[in-house]
Amino acid sequence: MTSAEKQKTDLPEPLDVIAVGAHPDDVEIGCGGTLARLVQQGYRVGIVDLTDGEPTPLSPGPHIRLAEAQRAAEILGVSVRVTLEFPNRRLFDSFEARVALAKIFRRYRPKIVLGIREKTPQASPDHWQAMQITDAAVFYARLSKWDDAFDGLPVHTVTRQLWYPLGLSTLQAVRTPGDVVVDVSESFHLKVEAIRAYETQFPPEKRRVFELVEHQARLLGLSAGFRYGESFTSPTAIGIRNLVETFAR
Ligand SMILES: [Zn+2]
Repeated sequence: MTSAEKQKTDLPEPLDVIAVGAHPDDVEIGCGGTLARLVQQGYRVGIVDLTDGEPTPLSPGPHIRLAEAQRAAEILGVSVRVTLEFPNRRLFDSFEARVALAKIFRRYRPKIVLGIREKTPQASPDHWQAMQITDAAVFYARLSKWDDAFDGLPVHTVTRQLWYPLGLSTLQAVRTPGDVVVDVSESFHLKVEAIRAYETQFPPEKRRVFELVEHQARLLGLSAGFRYGESFTSPTAIGIRNLVETFAR
């Protein structure tokens, strides 16, 4: 058996969707309802945090934040949560970060990757860096003749990359009429519970965060005819075969 064949047999069960954030809690806030809904629908979902999010003003230490992240993952029902060790507050798009994330894509072979959509002014600049790292890692995951950079892991092509909005205070949740809105009415309570799992990050005086999450999900949901919704942007064109099946059912 060649080393490439051995690598293939050692791979874990694939995931349908991987969501990437800069810090534990980004993914929950941006698309936690969709992840929980996917799990309810029988899909295998994973989360990658590029940093452990520490230090932060309100947390006693990384071990507490990691425990909160694991608890949030259990609430959402995700199969895998990976926390990479790039530094919080100093996360930069780099070759090392791109390769580390691409290795996870090669290992877990997701069909869909969800990444941060845009800058978050007056919040952490790590989010913008995470977006660039994620975009690059989706590309790196499929590049052949480069296996030595990826520990011999086989190439993997992500079928679709989507971006989720994260800036809660920037009025960017509703952006263009072309965005996709996922119905999260059946899973919104799990999203809120998962965010609440970060007790150190969201004490009672930060209640505003939950109000923003609630109202944005209501606005997005109502705009598309649901109780609660989360929006996604496709960076590339969405091809469809049947206009009526897609838009009139
Ligand atoms: Zn963040």
